[in-house]
Amino acid sequence: MEEFEERKYDVLVIGAGAAGMRAAIAASNEGANVCLVSKSLLGKAHTVMAEGGAAAALGNVDERDNWKVHFRDTIKGGKHLSNWKMAKIHAEQSPERILELEKWGAVFDRTKDGKINQRNFGGHRFPRLAHVGDRTGLEIIRTVQDKVIHQENIDIFVECTVAKIITKNEQAVGAIAYYRSKGNIVAIFAKAIIVATGGIGKAYRVTSNSWEYTGDGHSLAYLAGADLQDMEFVQFHPTGMVWPPSVKGTLVTEGVRGEGGILLNNKGERFMFNYIPEAFAAETAKSENEANDWLNGKEGAMRPPELLTRDVVAKAIMREVKEGRGSPHGGAFLDIANRREPDYIKKKLPSMYHQFKELGDLDITEEPMEVGPTTHYMMGGISVDAETGASSLKGMYAAGEAAAGLHGANRLGGNSLSDLLVFGNISGISAANFALKNEEISFSRNILKEAVKETLEPFSKEKTENPYHLHHELQDIMEMHAGIVREEESLNEGIEKLKDLSERVKNAKATGDRAYNPSWHLCLDMKNMIITSLAVAEAARERRESRGGHTRLDYPEYDKELGMINIIIRKGPDGLNIIKSDKEIMPEDLQSYVMKETV
Ligand code: FAD
Repeated sequence: MEEFEERKYDVLVIGAGAAGMRAAIAASNEGANVCLVSKSLLGKAHTVMAEGGAAAALGNVDERDNWKVHFRDTIKGGKHLSNWKMAKIHAEQSPERILELEKWGAVFDRTKDGKINQRNFGGHRFPRLAHVGDRTGLEIIRTVQDKVIHQENIDIFVECTVAKIITKNEQAVGAIAYYRSKGNIVAIFAKAIIVATGGIGKAYRVTSNSWEYTGDGHSLAYLAGADLQDMEFVQFHPTGMVWPPSVKGTLVTEGVRGEGGILLNNKGERFMFNYIPEAFAAETAKSENEANDWLNGKEGAMRPPELLTRDVVAKAIMREVKEGRGSPHGGAFLDIANRREPDYIKKKLPSMYHQFKELGDLDITEEPMEVGPTTHYMMGGISVDAETGASSLKGMYAAGEAAAGLHGANRLGGNSLSDLLVFGNISGISAANFALKNEEISFSRNILKEAVKETLEPFSKEKTENPYHLHHELQDIMEMHAGIVREEESLNEGIEKLKDLSERVKNAKATGDRAYNPSWHLCLDMKNMIITSLAVAEAARERRESRGGHTRLDYPEYDKELGMINIIIRKGPDGLNIIKSDKEIMPEDLQSYVMKETV
């Protein structure tokens, strides 16, 4: 019988990105004993990769900005599918969370008069992103990590992967995890669990996401009985590197466009002027002259079309490529070299300068970059209550990219980093209070033994499937059938292939022993990626309209009725169930404010 370590806490936080760490700080401040578990080393979570900034209506660069404008931009950017309560809380509380980070030691770029500087980004009406050059995630994670390690009642388990969430009487009560270093197992009992495991990008081949993004939290929560929501909405960021092939998908921050970068096709045309949607027409420049007024800082100038929302820009680039106007490697040109001085580019976009120099042998202060869409962010996730972060499963909370609701059908750049801080904090407080009011729940050891057995199953001799091949196949399926454009027949085909893959993955085989064994880890990650991918494809088939990140070639327009609906994925006795759930209705006064043409 496998021996395993057992630990007990009030709150278990799964994931040490900014959402998980901010949640751990909040829970510990409430007096809970907290266990923070991370699949990677501390400080290496995906948050560290964030570049452009964190959106918060501080009004430091343009004093017309306030929470209400930020709220409106988020709802419009999310194509009216965001949970309005989450969008309101997020817009109201982001400034407080950013100022708190500053108090904890974060050093943001400054305005001339010493305030936190804010930059322009797609879909944000005013300059709103607090930033540190193009390395904002590093500064944020450094700051919250410093805080976490100095809290007395937080234990941190690094390189420790949660493989299963344990429930009793429809309540989350613990988890089984394995240490990546030796492969030994730990059972962690907790009165409340916060899932903050990030996104799902590794189910796709072309992605800006790192190895960690295998949809673990989405899948663990679903299997434990929590609802998933709006899984069809995957964000394809318009500007990933397209060349050389080894780095295809690596992100090119929206900060390049925020600092004045423009998109050109192979005829040298600034094509985004041809793709301005009606809903954004009143706030978007229609000509080079109008757009140059914005670049030159003219008061009241309209924003350039390159700063339209990500879904719009990604689809415009695809269209240019499809119609033969793409760049040599199947993207568009992104030019900052002819817009800003070299010193300015190196100061504001140092990572981009080095990224292209080292990976692409290209100097962005002299030549345009080649860019194209890349799988970037998951808008869908664990369904949560706006005010507490509670999932539909008792004792389980979720925050950050693993949670759904705030971003609706399309996330605005910069809104994730502030989301992590706002809802990390909220879920931490709520989980701690739930835990501190509740007795510990005991459960049969057989449940634990079963979960441990399941985790070690890929080592059994009868297994035959190579997990790397399965992963390759999964990425092909998702790119081909549930990628940036979708249609019914192709989705049907993709779902059948995914179902077949979900049978084959039961037979996935780990080779070697348990110490740092990537084939074993991938066998377990594959199960999560397939469950998550099926949820994406099933929800995508159900949403017969195009909205935000979800584009149906066979239903190219908005559908009014579907615009009032969230698609819920729930585990049933016979597999995955799809439920259409009415979205929460926004109060009349906010609704009419959102619908105003300009603010
Ligand atoms: P993460 O930071 O990804 O943390 C997830 C944690 O969960 C990690 O510690 C991981 O190890 C752990 N984990 C996962 N599975 C398990 C498991 N089974 N067991 C234990 N631990 C597990 N957003 C912005 O707002 N502004 C930006 O400028 C910006 N730039 C970006 C640039 C890039 C290149 C990318 C890829 C994203 C960017 N984003 C940006 C998006 C943003 O960075 C992410 O959405 C955000 O950091 C996610 O944070 P998180 O805390 O939810 O998850």
